[in-house]
Amino acid sequence: MCNYYRHVYASCGHTRLVFAEHCKAGARVQRPCKQRTVWQTIEVSGDCRPCGGTEDELAD
Ligand SMILES: [Zn+2]
Ligand SMILES: [Zn+2]
Repeated sequence: MCNYYRHVYASCGHTRLVFAEHCKAGARVQRPCKQRTVWQTIEVSGDCRPCGGTEDELAD
């Protein structure tokens, strides 16, 4: 299970998962595996990307 940050936008409450760290299986292939776990939740005050796109989109 790979670790993700959950960004919570203070202005609208949207959340977005941002890749943080591979698990061992993911590191082996240098790709996040299918299972995502939230490592830390971070409140952000900047522009909300989900409002202009999709919720929980994956970061590149
Ligand atoms: Zn993983
Ligand atoms: Zn939003």
